[in-house]
Amino acid sequence: MESSILPTLIQLRASANSFLSQFEPLAIVVAPIVSFLVARVLQSFIQLIHEKGVKATVIGFVMTLFKLVPGVQKYIDAEKQKVVDKLQSSGKSSRDGWKTELPNTGLGTKVLEQMKDLKQKDPAWQGKCSGTVYIGGNESEGHFSLINEACSMFAHTNPLHLDVFKSVVRFEAEVVAMTGALFGSKEKASGGKICGNMTSGGTESILMAVKSSRDYMRAKKNITCPEMIIPESAHSAYDKACQYFKIKLWRVPVNKEFQADVKAIRKYINKNTIMIVGSAPGFPHGIIDPIEELGELAVSYRICLHVDLCLGGFVLPFARKLGYPIPPFDFTVQGVTSISADVHKYGLAPKGTSIVLYRNHDIRKHQFVAVTEWSGGLYVSPTIAGSRPGNVIAGAWAAMISLGQEGYLEHTREIMEASKRIQQGVKEIPELFIIGRPDMTIVAFGSNVIDIFEVNDILSSKGWHFSPLQRPNSIHICVTLQHVPVVDEFLNDLKDSVQTVKRNPGPISGGLAPIYGAAGKIPDRGMVSELLVDYMDNAC
Ligand SMILES: *Cc1c(COP(=O)(O)O)cnc(C)c1O
Repeated sequence: MESSILPTLIQLRASANSFLSQFEPLAIVVAPIVSFLVARVLQSFIQLIHEKGVKATVIGFVMTLFKLVPGVQKYIDAEKQKVVDKLQSSGKSSRDGWKTELPNTGLGTKVLEQMKDLKQKDPAWQGKCSGTVYIGGNESEGHFSLINEACSMFAHTNPLHLDVFKSVVRFEAEVVAMTGALFGSKEKASGGKICGNMTSGGTESILMAVKSSRDYMRAKKNITCPEMIIPESAHSAYDKACQYFKIKLWRVPVNKEFQADVKAIRKYINKNTIMIVGSAPGFPHGIIDPIEELGELAVSYRICLHVDLCLGGFVLPFARKLGYPIPPFDFTVQGVTSISADVHKYGLAPKGTSIVLYRNHDIRKHQFVAVTEWSGGLYVSPTIAGSRPGNVIAGAWAAMISLGQEGYLEHTREIMEASKRIQQGVKEIPELFIIGRPDMTIVAFGSNVIDIFEVNDILSSKGWHFSPLQRPNSIHICVTLQHVPVVDEFLNDLKDSVQTVKRNPGPISGGLAPIYGAAGKIPDRGMVSELLVDYMDNAC
């Protein structure tokens, strides 16, 4: 058998060869193109795995195939819309009667009455919200009215015009300098060249710090494909910064204490790493990351370290003076290159005020944008906005100068004590556990026996507003001066809510627990992200 097949095979191969040989010139052209295309497909697949991880890539791939099945995409869209409608109906009133056009005849000063009416219909926030409003007491008196007056005095100013609104320019410089002094600018260890700017909020401060670090690292180390590494607990503003500024972001799980895991972060550092981030404390659980260890890492790899003091900036320096055990968190730690601190949170300034600080002018220079070829003239601007509201800068100055060190110390004492009482109260509820060891005034708690999101729904029905957290499922209260008089009321409502859920587990009508529960578990994070975007697209 074999002997008869072999010659035939040889013959076949010979004729195939002579057949193919006529295409040889073509093959010379086609082969490289085909291999180039195959290489590109492989490369982008590897890139995807590199960016999203194996699990997310596989899930994304399977989902894409799955959606090709007729009817599946339609079904998913319909289910998605149901969830969006649910979020909408519980979060937003109907838009009946909302204006969609300028009125023909203006209302004149009567407009103020209408505004008062509308304001009165807002849900009550006094003492009821986590974070949100940090100033204590009644909205029509005390620190509130002082800030209102300061703002209205400067309502029509714009620090873009440095030569005109000199008072506002001075306020801004002083607010920045006074904040820098809280974070070690006067200490020898800081190098004495701390500088910074005011921004519209924590997010803008973070955007600026990331942008400056990116361009500083490009100038210093010629990094052109920048990457940054942050703990899972770092604020979502870093995602925003990375999306806006084309930086690859690595979110690394936290350690057992819910702090930045320095060893895990080290593993992600490579030649493209521009910066790492530590929070003091992080928004979700109010826990301070090991800033000194992160600083050592930053120094040894010659990369930037941003410390997020958005929440802690106007509490930690005072808590330390009061004797609370606060680990180092500022420019006295070697390796810290920038800091963000929100005056509009615990600084008790009006909303729209935050500060970004740098260790030296070399780094900060990369924040500015200078334009030389515009027919509008030579232009240079420090932050994202061009024209800026001078009123809130004046309000921030008023807050800091009116309170002084003693004012902040007194307020810090009050909220630290309220936070301790809340921690104690939560510990006494056996169904609940506190996440980690809160360093400051944020207390996050979850449960192993009941659905904490159902507890949150009951609390919402009693008028409280807390944000649900994930990994693990929990809720937190960011304690402000508004809460000092209502600690017992809060703890009683919390106890009641836990008992209600324990007796009657399951979703309540209009509750969001099932959605939060499900959203945490859906493996296709792309789908959850689409849900969020659809929600926002419907909401505004
Ligand atoms: C609030 C906060 C931010 C963002 O600040 P916004 O003022 O909301 O833009 C960033 N990081 C932390 C830790 C925060 O608490």
